[in-house]
Amino acid sequence: MERILNYINGRLTEPASGKFIHSIDPSTGQNYAEVPDSGSSDVHLAAEAAGSALTLWSTLPAMSRCRIMEKIADLIDENLEALAKAESTDNGKPLSLARVMDIPRASENFRFFATAGVHLASEAHQTGKDAINYTHKSPVGVVGCISPWNLPLYLFTWKIAPALAAGCTVVAKPSELTPMTAFLLSKLCMQAGLPPGVLNIVHGTGASSGQAIVEHPQIKAISFTGGTTTGKKIAATAAPLFKKLSLELGGKNPNIIFADCDFEQAVATSVRSAFTNQGEICLCGSRILVARSIYQKFLDAFITRVQELKVGDPLEEGTNLGALVSKAHLEKVLGYVNLAKQEGGTVVSGGHAVQLTGRCAGGYFMEPTVITGLSNSCRTNQEEIFGPVVTIMPFDSEEEAIQYANDSTYGLAATIWTENLKKAHRVAAEVKCGIIWVNCWLLRDLRTPFGGMNQSGVGREGGWEALRFFTEQKNICIRL
Ligand code: NDP
Repeated sequence: MERILNYINGRLTEPASGKFIHSIDPSTGQNYAEVPDSGSSDVHLAAEAAGSALTLWSTLPAMSRCRIMEKIADLIDENLEALAKAESTDNGKPLSLARVMDIPRASENFRFFATAGVHLASEAHQTGKDAINYTHKSPVGVVGCISPWNLPLYLFTWKIAPALAAGCTVVAKPSELTPMTAFLLSKLCMQAGLPPGVLNIVHGTGASSGQAIVEHPQIKAISFTGGTTTGKKIAATAAPLFKKLSLELGGKNPNIIFADCDFEQAVATSVRSAFTNQGEICLCGSRILVARSIYQKFLDAFITRVQELKVGDPLEEGTNLGALVSKAHLEKVLGYVNLAKQEGGTVVSGGHAVQLTGRCAGGYFMEPTVITGLSNSCRTNQEEIFGPVVTIMPFDSEEEAIQYANDSTYGLAATIWTENLKKAHRVAAEVKCGIIWVNCWLLRDLRTPFGGMNQSGVGREGGWEALRFFTEQKNICIRL
């Protein structure tokens, strides 16, 4: 059984407690690795190391930081297969998906922010003939990055890379459920020559090591991606300590299908946006709203395609849906299917756990599930399920579609399908979500602001937004 270690001050170390937690392969239900059960003393060591490395890293020329980060990206590319296998084993996702999405994006995150750091410039404001103001930028200092289990290395590096590019040093924690690729990343950072203490990775539970990162006085900013309930707790802890905070939280994303859409594209992409990564992506379109005039046609075509999806061993080619991340999560998602039935919904496809045979007999698999007949206000349509479950509802007018879309405490992402450009602009402007896709889904440009409204989060990641978050700005006014 592999033993994962913390990465503190450039070395791989055991947790101070000497305790480890089992990590389970969700496709088999078997323990396959041990994860450090770290606590506040480990976080303290990591924060001290990050504090000591700050002067060196923040004063290094941006181009030197860029070269080291590009080397890390090269090493991620060189180790693509091993990292993809580790991600699939840890999370349950299809290996084929990890190969083309998770791991390439992790190296892209490093590459994108490595070069962005070189292009970071200051603004200047001339105050008539009296003065000139310029914005002096410096790294925030030691920062904390906490990420979830659904896109482990993808989201971990989405935070770490801009922090490092801005000249900050980092104490980071991946989810205890999916720590393996973060551990492998520590080894790649050592190989790339990242100076000791610049990046520190502390493994363990959210309640213990995560909370210790948020509370630590030397850590000046927290970048968090995860559930809304956890985000609320982190905000409550960080606010009285006056820490900078970036929160990327849950979603219940509407996918609006107008009658004048490209029907084939809308159906095919809606299946993908509902069930990619077992529906465990914060951006998944989990509420499909369809114009009544094409409702039945859409539903029939959607179900036909959903029933062609293969639930299977994540390591096998041809598997579309792998295992859900844990037994507890599978039970939670199945609980929502029961709730939907109690609320008057009809399960028109799927709805059950899948029992595989052979290697995956003990795994946590579930059918892609489609539910109709629910009101938008019921719990099934209001709460984030974060699994392979979608609901489909008809709407009668553009106004009604917008009203349903906005009737949510969340506001992360929305998808709009129409061939009418004016309508696309109109609806996109009215829907209260931070990310809108028109006639596409998950088409990402890393320069764009990324984040949600309402209970989907606070602040934006991506491009200059992320570099700004990890930067302290000072205005200097000089009288002419
Ligand atoms: P959680 O909120 O449970 O956990 C996220 C991370 O926070 C984990 O590393 C967790 O540790 C840690 N954590 C838990 N409690 C605390 C605490 N008190 N202090 C500090 N850290 C803590 O989310 P999940 O991992 O279950 O991820 C799923 C959620 O993430 C969904 O709601 C999803 O929508 C959201 N998400 C949002 C995205 C966005 O960009 N908006 C993108 C992807 C996911 P551990 O797991 O080890 O206990």
